[in-house]
Amino acid sequence: MDVPFLDLRAAYLELKHDIDAATGRVLDSGRYLLGPELAAFETEWAAYCGARHCVAVGSGCDALELALRAMDIGPGDEVIVPAHTFAATWLAVSATGAEPVAVEPEPATFTLDPERVEAAITSRTRVILPVHLYGHPADLAALSEVAERHGVRILEDAAQAHGAQAYGRRVGAWSTTAFSFYPGKNLGGFGDGGAVVTDDAELAERVRLLRNYGSREKYRHEVRATNFRLDELQAAVLRVKLAHLDAWTERRAAVAARYLDGLAGLDGIVLPRPAPWADPVWHLFVIRSADRSALRERLAAAGVETLIHYPVPVHRSEAYAGSRQAARAQPVAERLAREVLSLPIGPHLSDDAVKAVIEAVRGAVAAC
Ligand SMILES: *Cc1c(COP(=O)(O)O)cnc(C)c1O
Repeated sequence: MDVPFLDLRAAYLELKHDIDAATGRVLDSGRYLLGPELAAFETEWAAYCGARHCVAVGSGCDALELALRAMDIGPGDEVIVPAHTFAATWLAVSATGAEPVAVEPEPATFTLDPERVEAAITSRTRVILPVHLYGHPADLAALSEVAERHGVRILEDAAQAHGAQAYGRRVGAWSTTAFSFYPGKNLGGFGDGGAVVTDDAELAERVRLLRNYGSREKYRHEVRATNFRLDELQAAVLRVKLAHLDAWTERRAAVAARYLDGLAGLDGIVLPRPAPWADPVWHLFVIRSADRSALRERLAAAGVETLIHYPVPVHRSEAYAGSRQAARAQPVAERLAREVLSLPIGPHLSDDAVKAVIEAVRGAVAAC
């Protein structure tokens, strides 16, 4: 049985009737930007997260950049980022002129190690930017304590963690948080999208200003900013999908539970190990293998498509060549980049597909 990594069309087909109605409603309305769908989605997404305000923007990367800019982060400032993450986390910091400062992850959860974060704080540090990677929340309780002790802020990158909880509290309800609605994310549109969620009314207002040419009133520009808007079509689609997010998350968790059970005890692979205080949303199911390329080839031969998130640590990417970060070794992140392998997961993965993946991994490990 062939198992593709992710079938994005499945979510559309499940909700085709409602999505077609919603997009038709927008097209018929003649209102395509900054209209009622956007406002309604912002209200609904803030409520879902348990936060007071939501400002939707053009992408997850925009959400990170605008949240940082709204916090007045810029040249001369340092922002602590995970050494192991998708490059967008770093690039958003760099876009403000601030320096991303890499800190190693805890290998069990793939998220920022709070002790190492504390050790990396300098007089220039302004923000700690944890990433809830693969859907597993970072240790927000420990990080909040560190942030408080040092008088720095937290901005969460929850691009992969819609609805995840740490200590029974949703990401987005702890501190200012950036989300992405890129099509492949747990809540995704049919194009780019993102949002900043916060309890801070002033910060929300700054993001609102920054996303639309620094303008609240037409032709009055209060600050220099460009265009980071989310359109009405995407907002309407996200509203339809939001009603199904919890059911989809449950299905992801059921797939993850079957993988954890079916792959337990295999020699040569390390399974993800959620922290006892975490309710992850399983954006990805990432295993580790010292012999990753052989494993990956055998899985491909068995029809199972896998991906690598991410093969090059950000400080080793060309974009950061010659930077202070590139000069620092990050052995944990470098090892993860060599070993991680993502198995297919998603709300529409069938039981048969899950079984086929488990059998393929078991067979591939036995043959290694
Ligand atoms: C996807 C992602 C982003 C960026 O989101 P876009 O909507 O693609 O700009 C940022 N951080 C992480 C961890 C992501 O996975």
